[in-house]
Amino acid sequence: MPSGDSLLARSLAAVWHPCTQMKHHEALPLVPIARGEGLWLYDPEGRRYLDAVSSWWVNLFGHCNPRINAALRDQLDTLEHVMLAGFTHEPAVQLSERLSALTGHALGHCFYASDGASATEIALKMSHHYWRNSGRVEKTGFLCLEGSYHGETLGALSVTDVAIFRDAYASLSRDVRTVPSPDARRAGSGETAVDVARRAAAGLERTLAEHHGEIAALIVEPLIQCATGFAMHDPEYLHLARQLCDRYEVHLICDEIAVGFGRSGTFFAHEQAGIRPDFLCLSKGISGGYLPLSVVMTTDRVYAAFYDDATTRGFLHSHSYTGNPLACRAALATLDIFAQDDVIAANRRRAESFTALLAPLRGHPRVSHFRQRGMIWAFDVVDAPADFSRRLFSAALEREVLLRPIGNVVYFMPPYVLEEADAAFLAERSLAALGAVL
Ligand SMILES: *Cc1c(COP(=O)(O)O)cnc(C)c1O
Repeated sequence: MPSGDSLLARSLAAVWHPCTQMKHHEALPLVPIARGEGLWLYDPEGRRYLDAVSSWWVNLFGHCNPRINAALRDQLDTLEHVMLAGFTHEPAVQLSERLSALTGHALGHCFYASDGASATEIALKMSHHYWRNSGRVEKTGFLCLEGSYHGETLGALSVTDVAIFRDAYASLSRDVRTVPSPDARRAGSGETAVDVARRAAAGLERTLAEHHGEIAALIVEPLIQCATGFAMHDPEYLHLARQLCDRYEVHLICDEIAVGFGRSGTFFAHEQAGIRPDFLCLSKGISGGYLPLSVVMTTDRVYAAFYDDATTRGFLHSHSYTGNPLACRAALATLDIFAQDDVIAANRRRAESFTALLAPLRGHPRVSHFRQRGMIWAFDVVDAPADFSRRLFSAALEREVLLRPIGNVVYFMPPYVLEEADAAFLAERSLAALGAVL
């Protein structure tokens, strides 16, 4: 096996890494990874890192999970891929049926793609095309929340309100209206998260009252806006947004790319508000963190608006790897684990235990707005020093922990295999890393 150092040099020469100013790697080395097992990633020299961010929020049941591996090996010897236009296969059909059942069959039609941004694009296009097919051609606009993140392809970037991703490309983006975020950190003294949610919904209502005639859909990240820095809101916001979307004839798109698959504490985050969206976008955890796969699920009503003799009234969007059997099979193995291990209930115990272990960190004088929902924990660091996120990243790595703060926000989003001993290790090492940086 080549040494880590030569891998780094070859990587810097040949690979343009994502979300990275490459020059920063002059000072901050890349981390070579040779293999993974459960919570742990190992470099070629055998150094280990506890993956507390689930490898960019995708991994659910640990690296090289034996059950998902077995399913993939079986699928690999059966059918690796076939086009989904004009053809079908068991893994795509079974996955669609099982996902539909998980929405109580409210969202019974599954459209597949390969990544989260494409799912966002599909939901936006479908909503737009629905209104066009319904004779409402003026409904072409979209609403997103302040701080929203829905991906970085051009269409998805139009409904993304994170300056660092958007600013350089603003001139390529469509004009989209932004409505107030229900971020619970905005509570004034004596206010609750529910008050903030109601205030944000009132802002949404003002925009809808004025512009609903030209708006196709509102897109939201239910309960947790992850990429902007783990802004959490009360389910009341979704409840009110659903009512307003119904009243003003605007679709509600729930982007659960990051928070679906149990991350928020329920299988889907929108369940906590007792609502269903018109479109549900899923990706990241869908394949257990194994293979690129995304899906947009929608209602009979939307589906019916496209069902016609005319080709042009159909949804003609296509991706080469749509419904890839290997990816669908990984997703089915992931759903099997949810069912067999009663994962949602087990995560409730895991979450309680890790929250308790984080008490010392929570009590740190520079930690504010400690927050948790399901299998996500986050806090803000007050008066964070310059370059805080990269410094904490390095300090944590030195202590065998993979953390990746967003600005001054530190978060934990571990795989659902975090048991007591590793949780204690993670809590203790994170506190030590924070102490070293502050
Ligand atoms: C990650 C993410 C996306 C984009 O998914 P990609 O697979 O990275 O394109 C979209 N929406 C949310 C909420 C996400 O967290």
